[in-house]
Amino acid sequence: MSSTYSLSDFDLRSTPCRLDVLSSFQAVDFALSQGDIEQKLSEQYDRVTIYRTLKTFLTSGLLHKVLDDNGGVKYALCKELCHQGDHHHQHDHVHFKCNQCGQTTCLESVHIPTIVLPAGFIKQESNLLIQGVCTSCRV
Ligand SMILES: [Zn+2]
Ligand SMILES: [Zn+2]
Ligand SMILES: [Zn+2]
Repeated sequence: MSSTYSLSDFDLRSTPCRLDVLSSFQAVDFALSQGDIEQKLSEQYDRVTIYRTLKTFLTSGLLHKVLDDNGGVKYALCKELCHQGDHHHQHDHVHFKCNQCGQTTCLESVHIPTIVLPAGFIKQESNLLIQGVCTSCRV
């Protein structure tokens, strides 16, 4: 279910770090934190390079942010080509965090319902994280 984009789909020059970060995401079907990526790639790249790569991917529309329940941030691959040159690029689907394996997945088919805010409030982002037990942990 992972996407098979390449960097050129996003007009990104390929660098070893970008290729390795991209394939780390394509190897799994759940969201990864910067720490997860650092653990995998810390021998090849320093933290700043990894951080910049994640930022670039976010801005290019290759990854989107997934807020974690502990206040941390994870990143997940965009399943469709986003191409949004915008830091606030986000999706309106729900994220699901499994309390047993700790993995957060994109529920692409489940959309955040439209929330009507009181007059004067301006929505900038909405995030909905459902916590529970995922299909692989459910016995
Ligand atoms: Zn996206
Ligand atoms: Zn699970
Ligand atoms: Zn998502």
